Amino acid sequence: MSRHAIITGGSRGIGYAIAKKLQQDGLRVSIVGRDAATLAAAATSLGAHVCYAVADVTDASAVARAFASLQEQQGVLAILINNAGAAESAPFERTDQNLWQRMIDANLTSAYHCIRAATPALLAMSDARVINIASTAGQTGYPYVAAYCAAKHGVVGLTRALAREWAGKSITVNAVCPGFTDTDLVQASVERIQRATGRSAEQALASLTAGNPQRRLIEPAEVAHVVSWLCDPRSGSITGQSISVAGGEVL
Ligand code: NDP
Repeated sequence: MSRHAIITGGSRGIGYAIAKKLQQDGLRVSIVGRDAATLAAAATSLGAHVCYAVADVTDASAVARAFASLQEQQGVLAILINNAGAAESAPFERTDQNLWQRMIDANLTSAYHCIRAATPALLAMSDARVINIASTAGQTGYPYVAAYCAAKHGVVGLTRALAREWAGKSITVNAVCPGFTDTDLVQASVERIQRATGRSAEQALASLTAGNPQRRLIEPAEVAHVVSWLCDPRSGSITGQSISVAGGEVL
């Protein structure tokens, strides 16, 4: 039987592209998000055999319920893709504790909850995978996103620690670190920059792609391709890595 992969935030953007690629690779795919209608539409367009569950990944008990239900339907999970996340920006002097906590919860504690819920299954499997979709913001700093950068650096730290801890257990743990990628999340950033600076959409977008030596947005399918390669059983010696998919933005 093919391996079961759960992808958080699989209803849109990078997560949807990952779900599509892993399904094409022949895996059994489940997706998790907060909005039932978006999940149902995504599952329908991904095709038969894709299951979904509604859960906010910042809520440990909701994650545990969702993972239990998906494993009842699709079998024990072998691959966990922690992709759900959110990015809010503000100058540091306006980064209040609420914004800080939202970013840590959405991007870092969420991964902790999902890995904890998946741990019994991962430990029971051979060739298991944890792949955390971090960001180049987990590898370097950017202005106006201190909380997001701190959370994504935390995800990279969690990845490294678990890779070492589980090295003898047939589980690899890696982070994939995209640069600015063409999704709703970046569209929201463009609109925020426009509102804050009065720049045009093209100028706002150019300010985001300026750091990428290829001067372009990453495509979600490019991130999915790297995830697919990490899931391959032949990638079993790659663990604890933070792989940039960013046109050379981080070297
Ligand atoms: P999108 O905003 O396009 O999609 C986010 C997905 O995550 C949706 O499916 C959303 O569904 C789900 N989601 C968000 N919050 C939660 C939550 N609390 N609980 C459950 N599901 C949630 O984001 P992207 O595809 O752009 O980003 C995906 C990941 O990649 C994120 O971790 C992001 O930080 C990272 N990343 C993105 C980059 C970019 O430029 N786009 C660059 C680098 C990293 P719903 O809203 O229905 O819950």
